[in-house]
Amino acid sequence: MTNALSLCSVSKSFGGFKALDSVDFSVAPGEVHALLGENGAGKSTLMNIACGLYAPDEGHVELEGRAVTIAGARDAAAKGIGMVHQHFKLVPAFTVLENILLFNPGRAPAEIAREALALADRMGFEIDLDARVGTLGVSEQQRLEILKVLVAGARIIILDEPTAVLGEDDGRALMALVRGLADSGSAVILVTHKLHEALYHSDRITVMRQGRRIAETLPAEMDPGRLTTLIVGEHIVEEPEPSPHVGGARIRLNQVRLAGDGGRKGLVDVSFEVKDGEIYGIAGVSGNGQNELAEVLMGLGLPTGGSIEIAGHGDVTGAGPAHRRQNGLACIPVDRYRHGLAGSIGVADNFAVNGALAGRYGSWLWFNRRKARAEARAAIETFDVQGVRSLGQKAALLSGGNAQKLVIAREFQGAPQVVLAHSPSRGLDVRAGAAVHERLRAARDRGAAVILISEDLDEILLLSDRIGVLAGGRLVAEFKAPANRSEIGAAMVTHD
Ligand code: ADP
Ligand code: MG
Repeated sequence: MTNALSLCSVSKSFGGFKALDSVDFSVAPGEVHALLGENGAGKSTLMNIACGLYAPDEGHVELEGRAVTIAGARDAAAKGIGMVHQHFKLVPAFTVLENILLFNPGRAPAEIAREALALADRMGFEIDLDARVGTLGVSEQQRLEILKVLVAGARIIILDEPTAVLGEDDGRALMALVRGLADSGSAVILVTHKLHEALYHSDRITVMRQGRRIAETLPAEMDPGRLTTLIVGEHIVEEPEPSPHVGGARIRLNQVRLAGDGGRKGLVDVSFEVKDGEIYGIAGVSGNGQNELAEVLMGLGLPTGGSIEIAGHGDVTGAGPAHRRQNGLACIPVDRYRHGLAGSIGVADNFAVNGALAGRYGSWLWFNRRKARAEARAAIETFDVQGVRSLGQKAALLSGGNAQKLVIAREFQGAPQVVLAHSPSRGLDVRAGAAVHERLRAARDRGAAVILISEDLDEILLLSDRIGVLAGGRLVAEFKAPANRSEIGAAMVTHD
């Protein structure tokens, strides 16, 4: 069959830097073609050429075997190419319908509305055309992005890391939707970091590394180990490692309650303890109290009942975030840009925030900037934060993996006794994820009590010494490592 889209020996440089070096890539109607590679491999650049945002320096693009020039995003849409970007391009203040209209100018609203509803129905999801986009969840916004390009008549659909922002359930639903698109004759390109999506949900796999195509292969010829080796160019396989030494209880939650509001479930009598030198994993389907538990632990939400104790500090139930830190608790929050870092201020200042609050660099009047900068520089080195061109560089310019390393470098200053990590490797590539895991194990091995909240069951199984399952805001089961995956899965869903 002729390919729907082919990129032929495409090269692209930015300044003197060669982001793409003679890359070939194609996708056929009815096919899901997975595109894998580490951060910076060139995946987005390649896809931006496919959707007309960049022109290639060398090489060309073919549609159904004929060489074409794609003159910008509008032209790409007219040619049946639709891209759902890594960062959504929706207007939050507009309704769903208004956003679709914005993307499909010049067509009658009534006709668009009819078509959108029919397409949503065919794809098996519900949609409220009058809802304001700002009120939608991430997964609904993403469906809207897909719907938007379908209404525009896209037959070649490019999804750039679509599940990086989704929990496990929504991710699974999206994979079903992707297959549905291919079954209806679309050509789908799935850019992803997740090996299992490529292995189990694609028909063909292309791996890129440093701007080159390293391999084009079939899922049946791959396994997670071989695929990882292709992606990172070396062998990274993470194995569970039991704790070298488990001590006494460090943090204890007694019957912690948090009243739910609106659609939130809250927490119902959650009790568990985590010992020194132990990683306690909290497994669960997303939306079952994970965010609430994290808030209560960070001191952002005050429990409506029960208590939290940290050994050596006593009852800390009412302590706010700054106090929690003084009680030896460090946090790697789920949204590293919202709660973790201030994107618009410099790397060194982001780093120094905690230390400054703790009086580590003198007072605000007599701030020891030189000491703060020296420590920031040392931590960037120790924690292998890459892409820092200067200490004044804005944190928002760091890639996901490096931003996370910066959060960890800062949080692990002063060797915290309790560490809360909430989905710490979400959106990170294999190497960056493994580096984050290594840091959590190192904290545990030096005796910290680590609480790992993650919707990624593989991550929980890989790291945890004990596992609690959160369902409907309750802790419904506890397991000791090595734990049985399907028993945990059953506990996650059977306690509604
Ligand atoms: P991926 O999507 O695989 O993570 P990208 O295609 O975004 O990778 O980036 C590939 C390389 O090109 C990176 O080193 C990135 O910094 C660089 N790059 C991408 N876009 C630009 C740009 N507009 N200007 C300068 N460099 C860029
Ligand atoms: Mg990208």
